[in-house]
Amino acid sequence: MNPKRIVILGGGFAGVKCARTLRAELRPAEAEIVLFNKENHLVFSPLLADAVGSSLNIMDVIVPLRQLLPGVTCRTEEVLRVDLAAHEVEYEGHDGTPRRLGYDHVVLACGNISNLNVVPGMADHAFPLKTVGDAAVLRTHVLQMMEKAEVCDDPEKRRWYLSFVVVGGGYSGVETAGEINDLVRFSTRFYRNITDDDITVTLIHSRDQLLPEISPALREFARKKMERAGVTMRLNARVMLATGEGVGLKDGFVPGGTIVCTIGTTISPVVEHTDTPKEKGRLLTEPDMRLRGRANAWAIGDCASILNAHDGQPSPPTGQFAERQGRQCSLNIVRTLRGEPTRPFSFKVLGQLCSIGGHSAVAEMFGLKLSGFWAWFAWRGVYLFKLPDWSRRIQVGLDWAWLLFFPRDLSHLKTDVTDRVTHAYYQPGDYIVRQGEAPANFYVIEKGEVEIVRTSPEKPEGEIIAVIGEGNFFGEHALVSNQPRNASVRARTVVEVVVMGRNVFTTISKSLAPLRKALTQAITRRTANFWTQRPEAMAALRDFQLAEFIEPPPHPLLKPTDTLEATTRVFADNGSDFFYVSADGQRLDGLVTLTDLIKAQGENTRAGVTVADFMVKSPSCLARTDSCLVAAAAFGEHGLKYLPVVEDTASRRIVGFIRARKLMTRVIRQATTPPV
Ligand SMILES: Cc1cc2nc3c(=O)[nH]c(=O)nc-3n(C[C@H](O)[C@H](O)[C@H](O)COP(=O)(O)OP(=O)(O)OC[C@H]3O[C@@H](n4cnc5c(N)ncnc54)[C@H](O)[C@@H]3O)c2cc1C
Repeated sequence: MNPKRIVILGGGFAGVKCARTLRAELRPAEAEIVLFNKENHLVFSPLLADAVGSSLNIMDVIVPLRQLLPGVTCRTEEVLRVDLAAHEVEYEGHDGTPRRLGYDHVVLACGNISNLNVVPGMADHAFPLKTVGDAAVLRTHVLQMMEKAEVCDDPEKRRWYLSFVVVGGGYSGVETAGEINDLVRFSTRFYRNITDDDITVTLIHSRDQLLPEISPALREFARKKMERAGVTMRLNARVMLATGEGVGLKDGFVPGGTIVCTIGTTISPVVEHTDTPKEKGRLLTEPDMRLRGRANAWAIGDCASILNAHDGQPSPPTGQFAERQGRQCSLNIVRTLRGEPTRPFSFKVLGQLCSIGGHSAVAEMFGLKLSGFWAWFAWRGVYLFKLPDWSRRIQVGLDWAWLLFFPRDLSHLKTDVTDRVTHAYYQPGDYIVRQGEAPANFYVIEKGEVEIVRTSPEKPEGEIIAVIGEGNFFGEHALVSNQPRNASVRARTVVEVVVMGRNVFTTISKSLAPLRKALTQAITRRTANFWTQRPEAMAALRDFQLAEFIEPPPHPLLKPTDTLEATTRVFADNGSDFFYVSADGQRLDGLVTLTDLIKAQGENTRAGVTVADFMVKSPSCLARTDSCLVAAAAFGEHGLKYLPVVEDTASRRIVGFIRARKLMTRVIRQATTPPV
């Protein structure tokens, strides 16, 4: 008899338990067991927070699969899709080409993946905690923040370095907040300039209680204990956005030099592309864990939606359930191979354990409720026992014992990648770069507007010298000249930027001629213009009030729904070169120039073309309170003849416009007229 091939997709708790049990139950002559996993190790996720807090060595929370699973063919490869009709899995081979492997039975155990896109800005500014790489990067970042705080001479900035925000009050959020709090507070004695008062650790949770899985009395214990240890609780608080400065809530802003996001998961792409019924993205199974309507395909763990026959409830996405499903699924596969009836998944939860920092935990086990030191002791004992092999148990046990006598290890490997391109998100008022900083990045504005703010002996408090918006860039001058930043850049509206590291910037600007040309022009424009070269011109611009130059908006206002023909008539009947577009008659939504109109007439031969199709959307504009210096810089930057003026950037209520010619004539006249 040829051995049957059983392919398991995923080397997490569910897949590993399934593979182990199958190997124990079936002889090699009966079955070949193949396990695909993206990494070559199992991650023991309940201990990731310990690794972040330096309670454990980072390598102790992972176990190599091939050492853990003798007799199982372990393949460190990514599965691209499962072809249920052809009974084959398609995976990415070592050389990047897709290959296929047939199976007699397949088990999908690929878990889920973190999805920080649940909140605007979170993906750019927060740290996830799902993989061992995430834990290593977060630990390094926390320690780097402590080192920066130690040498920072600005007390406010130091407190910001030492502000840690954890989003999500489930197990991983609570454990991570507890561990970071312990690491930072217990280590202050090694830093001369950091005091306990400088540190804030904030745990933000959208419900009124932490840890919804455990009893109210234990939750309350956990909350009080953590608060006493210095963790600030923000319950019933929903995070609306994350920026480089912290997180925005409905009713305020929490500063955070470090943001950890433990909420938000999404299904893995291979699950998404599997052609089978799903519930909330998870693979729907029969009671025995077979995929609906399939005889030889099974799903277990976090990626599956499995009913628990013990209480008739859907199984929660926890390690405990994943392991138990792995075991029971493998036994059902064995029964199927032997022609015996399968059994429904059934599991009585053994207990709940959560460490809350400060050598304390909360636990509910076998009907007993424990809290404090003994619960913490039980927590460690249970997890030590749960580790899959003796070498790891001894290692972890020694790590924990070490900490009873010695302080946590504060050394860190620099995990910063040399260079990369990322996105960042800022709220109005956030600083993106600060004057005097060493140049590191180049920024391209994807959305919104920024203000260039410069302090000088005449204006030590700083003045806005320019405003730039979508499609524009900044940071080039400091990088090219290798000088400290000569101005700060502050978000004027909500801003999204693409951030390019120095090396990426240098490489692209060297090889891409149009970018090189645009940069040279920008540097010349921004450093050698008439205004900056002539102190008298600068002084004149500072003297003038923008209000002196504002003219009423051209009438009539266009609507986005106006047709091309109607717009043409407006231009023919009124002598303006441009008209504003506003849906509500107040807010500046767009602008149409004569050039835009002529272009639209040439391009749009189809009927039904409206202003919304060819207007300049959200054009650059000045706020009524802007200085003439900003107006002059904007004219220079955009090469425009006139600029709209609005009440403020939030409301964008139309006020009027100013002409470049009028402003410049006045400046030239004043700057070149000798005083009498
Ligand atoms: C920080 C943290 C703390 C936690 N604490 C607890 C706790 O205290 N108690 C508890 O019960 N649970 C806890 N959990 C939840 C628990 O870890 C999960 O429920 C459990 O890991 C789910 O197991 P799984 O096998 O379904 O998925 P996973 O453990 O996520 O494993 C899935 C595996 O599949 C691999 N994979 C995915 N797609 C592919 C592909 N296409 N090709 C190849 N390989 C692929 C992945 O790389 C991964 O190794 C915690 C989770 C986290 C993140």
